[in-house]
Amino acid sequence: MKRLIAVLLGLALLLSGNAFAAGKGAPPKHDVYYPGTETLGPNEMRVVALGTGQPTVRPKQASACFLVELGNGDKFLFDLGYGSVQRLSTMKIPMDHLDKVFIGHLHMDHFGDLDALWIGGLKMNRTYPLRVWGPSGATPEMGTKSAIKGLKRMLHWDAYTVSGLIDIRGQQLEVTEFDYKGVNKVIYKENGVTIRSIPAIHVTDGSVSFILEWNGLKFAYSSDTFPNKWWLKYTKKADIVVHECFASPQILLEKQKYPPSLALALSVFKHTSPQQFGKVMAMTKPRLAVGYHFYNDHDTLPVMLEQVRRTYNGPLTMATDYMVFNVTKEDILVRMAAVDSEIWPSQPTRPTKRDPPKTVLFSDFIRSGQKPMSEVVKRIYDSFNERNDTNVPLPKN
Ligand SMILES: [Zn+2]
Ligand SMILES: [Zn+2]
Repeated sequence: MKRLIAVLLGLALLLSGNAFAAGKGAPPKHDVYYPGTETLGPNEMRVVALGTGQPTVRPKQASACFLVELGNGDKFLFDLGYGSVQRLSTMKIPMDHLDKVFIGHLHMDHFGDLDALWIGGLKMNRTYPLRVWGPSGATPEMGTKSAIKGLKRMLHWDAYTVSGLIDIRGQQLEVTEFDYKGVNKVIYKENGVTIRSIPAIHVTDGSVSFILEWNGLKFAYSSDTFPNKWWLKYTKKADIVVHECFASPQILLEKQKYPPSLALALSVFKHTSPQQFGKVMAMTKPRLAVGYHFYNDHDTLPVMLEQVRRTYNGPLTMATDYMVFNVTKEDILVRMAAVDSEIWPSQPTRPTKRDPPKTVLFSDFIRSGQKPMSEVVKRIYDSFNERNDTNVPLPKN
């Protein structure tokens, strides 16, 4: 009977023209993006907004982070502001594929989750080194290398204590610091992908924007910047640009309660206000302009759009977290992702190896405080081994 129902169902699906549901062909693109269910086409780029909010993080929007996935299998992270790694986990991508991070500048809303990706990613099964690219600063201690050195020191206890327990090949953290003054200089070139940096103007020297080119597609990411000549010159007619579009002075005044002078200075001079964003887009004419770096709510979005539309009437999306862009030469599809909140780490892409003898030990003092509870522990081991048909011996001590 079950077989008959299955055959009838298959026949009905075929007749309805749903070949994929019947087990044939490529999956269709739904109105919503379901992470882990769509293979990219060989010429396709997918951009996922994982952090789009203001410098102060909130449940609805993490701080700056955009994931770029390419049809050749490569994946890149642009900025990694606080809160963004939680979003990243919802994409259900093995951490082994999330090993390349490009940081635009060293504000925490652009790199504050590097610790979560480095150590957290290690515990989520990354077995490859984490590679980070970031700008130099006006002085050596203002550069990315110095920041990573400090981060390693800060997380020494954590990194040290996982030895022997998990595969620690992913514990390596490699940094490539490049000159923040480089103008359209190549900072990455592998596997047909070229990434260039241009100087950005934000608060002080040491901020950059990025341009990624692959297979005839061009993606540009501003990180934070005041409108500048380099962006205007080198991002012209890109396929998709993600540029900051900071909350308007009026929003900063009314919603954030900033004093008038700070509201104006922050939006217009430390960042790019909506009207300036529109002007930049009108001058560079991307196939799709994506504005980010503001709290995108029912009451702020109309204000932001009204401001942008004073200076720009081209293709536009105002980003919020979990927005997904599928980019090909022919089309740009914009959708929201449907995300699970009960996420478990994806499996590594190569066999793991542990080195138990390297497990960190206690001092005699701490050991002297242990209550062995030997009977309970033995029962745990026995019932586990029996249930799983394993033979894990009880540790000697
Ligand atoms: Zn910043
Ligand atoms: Zn920022």
